[in-house]
Amino acid sequence: MQRICPHCGKANDNIAFVGEICLSCALERKQQSLPSSVSIVRCPTCQRLRTNTNLNRSTKHLSQRYDKKALKTKEEWVNYTPARIKEIVKKPFEKAKMPGEYDIELGVWRGFFDAGGERAAYTWPIEIKWENNSCPRCSRSTSGYFEGIIQLRGDKKNIEKYAQKFAKKISKDSFIAKVVELDEGVDLYVGSKADIPKLVRYEGLKFFRSKTISGERRDGKRLYRDTFLIKV
Ligand SMILES: [Zn+2]
Ligand SMILES: [Zn+2]
Repeated sequence: MQRICPHCGKANDNIAFVGEICLSCALERKQQSLPSSVSIVRCPTCQRLRTNTNLNRSTKHLSQRYDKKALKTKEEWVNYTPARIKEIVKKPFEKAKMPGEYDIELGVWRGFFDAGGERAAYTWPIEIKWENNSCPRCSRSTSGYFEGIIQLRGDKKNIEKYAQKFAKKISKDSFIAKVVELDEGVDLYVGSKADIPKLVRYEGLKFFRSKTISGERRDGKRLYRDTFLIKV
């Protein structure tokens, strides 16, 4: 059956159709909602990617928009992988209800229309715009920020063993701001204190925790630094 595109007058002899209209006209209709580039925020230090690129646009509620803390907690940084890139590029296409997949090697979106049991495939060039932005972890680690101190005391060999163990584990999700070797042991200055108790208990160790107030943060909240004294 011959079809004529009502928009451009082309017939379906050698071009694909999406229902009543030809593929290029179908794409033209969608042009407004298809991105020609996708911005990806990358931390120049650790190379991780921020996944919530469209966050500011998607939080429509006034209360949410002004709740900076809520925005902060939603910020997620993930390791750079091809799968993550594909995921990030896919978001605006999903929003426009355009199925397909991003072809990293060719830098194109491989999309398709499904209409009336027919599939019309197309490619759409996408430019990735890299934006450098330090992640909270890296910007803190270079500014001397830290939330907790692990004080290892006791047997010299054990101190060394646990200092290495903790440093390795902490560096996965947080960072070690500095290591101070003292006569009586080792002090590890840790970026984030939240996971320290779990980490210590996991090794079958006990800690004595003390808090000190250490100045105010930029957001006006008091910053407590916790010291974890551990006998090993
Ligand atoms: Zn057409
Ligand atoms: Zn980083």
